[in-house]
Amino acid sequence: EAIIEFSGVEVKYGEVEALRGIDLKIPGEKVTVIIGPSGCGKSTMIRTVNRMVEPTRGTVRYQGQDVKTFDKIELRRQMGYAIQNVGLIPHLTVEENILLVPRLLGWPEDRKKKRAKELLDLIGLDAGKYANKYPSELSGGEAQRVGVARALGADPPVLLFDEPFGAVDPLKREELQDEFIRIQRRLRKTVLFITHDLSEAIRLADYMVIMKDGVVVQADAPERLLKEP
Ligand code: ADP
Ligand code: ADP
Repeated sequence: EAIIEFSGVEVKYGEVEALRGIDLKIPGEKVTVIIGPSGCGKSTMIRTVNRMVEPTRGTVRYQGQDVKTFDKIELRRQMGYAIQNVGLIPHLTVEENILLVPRLLGWPEDRKKKRAKELLDLIGLDAGKYANKYPSELSGGEAQRVGVARALGADPPVLLFDEPFGAVDPLKREELQDEFIRIQRRLRKTVLFITHDLSEAIRLADYMVIMKDGVVVQADAPERLLKEP
């Protein structure tokens, strides 16, 4: 039931060894949280999954197949991606931003309209009020929600979340975590979620991966990891 598998994955950026041999199985339909200090290779690791980064050595498999055998548009359909600084496109409206992947996939107009409304409902933003706003008119928390909605755009089975709530203040962050938990209960995605916040990791993780200096130090259910002396 591993849906994503890393085998001997190494990544070098010139002289920098960002990943030094990752062997890891990611369970399907669960939230796997990757935690570790800044610079330990977390972002690099999840970016090898959707081929934003190509391994220098080793293989990443998705559903048993080397991700290299998928084209990049197919990977975008399969894997939503959200990052800390949201990266909404400033000259596109909220609706246009969340429909980027459906547009890329050539969905017809009526299906896109319907999907935009569903996504805004899901993240708790009123479609009438928000669909035509521009990113600059959103609060930080609203923008993060829209970033999550964009990742969910074409209903991908996998979500790659790189500290999606990292830039939000602590109270708002808990609200977003609650909402994420609520959404995940409904949608049952395979989620790879990066954080460097231990309390966030404990709240969200079904499975927890601890990284340091480009390797996985430990990987287990959080209750088992935290029980150890
Ligand atoms: P984390 O997400 O844990 O902060 P990263 O995967 O972003 O770690 O980075 C791992 C290491 O690789 C760091 O030393 C970082 O400086 C380096 N690195 C990341 N991206 C690049 C890049 N595009 N070019 C060169 N070095 C990079
Ligand atoms: P850094 O964190 O190293 O500063 P970013 O995470 O901001 O860099 O980089 C964003 C990158 O992600 C850009 O190259 C952008 O084209 C790409 N990107 C944005 N959304 C997606 C997506 N859904 N799938 C794949 N790549 C994406």
